[in-house]
Parts: sequence; C-alpha cells; structure tokens
Amino acid sequence: MKLACVIVAAGQGIRAAGENPKQYQRLAGKPVLARTIEAMLATTSIEAVLCVIAAEHRAMYDEAVQHLRDDRLLPPAFGGATRQQSVHNGLVSLQSRAPENVLIHDAARPLVSAAVVARVVRGLERAVAVMPAIPVIDTIWHDGQHGLDAIDRNQLWRSQTPQGFRYAIILAAHRRAANDATDDIAVARQAGHAVSIVAGSEDNFKITVPEDLVRAERSIAMDVRSGTGFDVHAFCPGSFVVLCGIQIPFAYGLSGHSDADVAMHAITDAVLGALAAGDIGQWFPPSDPKWKGSASTVFLRKAVDLCRDRAMVISHLDCTIVCEAPKIAPHALEMRQSIATICDIALDRVSVKATTSEGLGFTGRREGIAALAAATLVGK
Ligand code: MG
Repeated sequence: MKLACVIVAAGQGIRAAGENPKQYQRLAGKPVLARTIEAMLATTSIEAVLCVIAAEHRAMYDEAVQHLRDDRLLPPAFGGATRQQSVHNGLVSLQSRAPENVLIHDAARPLVSAAVVARVVRGLERAVAVMPAIPVIDTIWHDGQHGLDAIDRNQLWRSQTPQGFRYAIILAAHRRAANDATDDIAVARQAGHAVSIVAGSEDNFKITVPEDLVRAERSIAMDVRSGTGFDVHAFCPGSFVVLCGIQIPFAYGLSGHSDADVAMHAITDAVLGALAAGDIGQWFPPSDPKWKGSASTVFLRKAVDLCRDRAMVISHLDCTIVCEAPKIAPHALEMRQSIATICDIALDRVSVKATTSEGLGFTGRREGIAALAAATLVGK
C-alpha cells in the first residue's frame, strides 16, 4: 500500500461545549468526524483511512460513519491516554498493510481541502516528514521575566494537519516518543528527522471552541434547493378520497388515472421541482396503463430515490390542501406520518394543512380538491 491516513479522534473535546465531544457534534447537519473522513476519502490516492477513537465513543462513531460506503474506511483503533499514544495505536493498526507513507490528521479539521492534502502528498516525494503550515502574520509578544519581547515572526509557523510521513520512520519515532508531543512533527523532530513545510490554508482551522463550529458552519456552502408543486383532481362518484396516502370516508371520490391522491401528487412534483427533474407526468405518463389505479406512494418513492441518487436530502415539505370538504384537520397528523415514513424523514419536517377557498371558484363550488406543496432539499 502506498498511502494511508490516520484520523485522530480519541479526544474528549472538552473545550467545545456541548453534550458530545466536538468530533461528534453536528456541523451543517453532519457529525464533524464524518465530514473529516469524507474530506480525506475525497483524495483517491489514499488507499485506507483509519480513525483512532475513544472506546467509550464506539456507538457515536458507528452512527457517524453509517452512511459511508467506502471499503477504504477501516474499522477504528482505540486511543490511549495521550494524543501521542493514540496516534501510536493507529499506526500499529496499519502495520499489516505496511503503507509506504501515512498522513496523520486531526478529526477536528473537517474543512481540509484536497489541495492541502495534495501538497502534503507531493511533499513526501522529496521529504520523510511534511507539515502544512501558515506563516504567522500577527506580531507575537513574549511576556517574560524582563517584560515584553517581540518575537521575530518571520521564523514562526502555525502547524496544521494532515502531516505526512514515511510510515516506517514515524512508527519508529512514536515507539520511542515522549508522550507529551502535541503533534507528530514534534515526534519526528524528537527522532531527529528533517521536516519540509508546505502551504496550509486558513480554511483548514481546528474546531476547538464553540465559536469555531459556527465559523465552520458559515464556511460550508450549503446546497439548498426548493421546489413547488400544484395539482387538482375533480370529485366523482365514490365513497372515499385518498390524501397523502390516507383514506378518508367522503360522499364522493376523486377522479384520476391513479388513486388521484392530489396532495401526494403536489408533494411529489415539489420534490421533483427541487431536483429540476421534470414532473410526475413525465416519470409516470397517464397514457401508460401500468399506473391505472396505482397508489401514489409509488410516485413519491420514485422522487425520494432520485434525491438519494443525486445526493440530496429532503429537509422539509409543506403541503396545503384547498377544499370545502372533507375536513382535513382530523387526519393531518396521520397524513404527515404517512409522508414522513415514505420520505424517511422526521415528522417535524413534514407539514400538512388545509384551507377553504371561501366558497369561491371550483373548490368553493365543491367540484374537486386542489393541493399546493413546497419542498426544501439540501445537499449531503
Ligand atoms: Mg394528479
């Protein structure tokens, strides 16, 4: 194996407030650690990614990575009493794979870019230890015995991760390391190895305090899309209507090619609209006898599948049903549950409400039911 990556995630993250350690807190809807792993997996030359976690965080880890289907993500190793011991454990776990080079990355740097990773990997062509770093711009003062002394900032660097190493060299260095090293460059230096510096990035900051989570959230360009849907079906002889998959006894039915679930059609069109994926009629032509009498759940399920294919998640659905009768409110909760189940989202992300049209127009004349819907989708 040429290149592996160890992600150090065993810390307790006590400086970032919250009930979970910082690497398991959500950043734009996803655990920080999941974003960090994805960022490293984005570099295709990395053949294996191994996280070092605290044994007591195993359940949180499993939940954070459950959506990741990538064979390169290895089962986690468990951390030790210090960061250095944790990294050592991670490196030892890679021994059977014997990578030529290894990147060691902080779990709390989820915004690392492929460009920074590439600079470190390239640096390893000429050096055994590579550190991405940023020159210090602020004037730095040392408050010592004799008062303040300005330090020559031209000689100062702020180190980041991933730090890159020849695997055999950093493993040997960790075996002998003093366990107070705060990063792996320090371990390499203790063992007498030269270090090459490549450019880091201000975006690759380490989430340490709660404000950092807010800053990171702001810098993630969220892919948010919205769509609208509208549908009408006329009443016809019958004894029930189907709305959002729920059968409601009524003096009439709704006429249509499928089960005429006007609300589900509007919702489906809203989701398709957010995907810019046409409309329900294009996916399920009324001319096709296959869909005659079909339950409209099939249509919404198709739209949900398309979301999955396009790496979008339904964040919210809102549907308004317009009719004089039947009464919607007694069934609204059941309708919301039905839609939430089909879309596999939480109940509080689905809204179903109703209004009359004050006796005006076709809905006012009780000729049928209209439904409007809005869908909000976010990128994964
Ligand atoms: Mg329809």
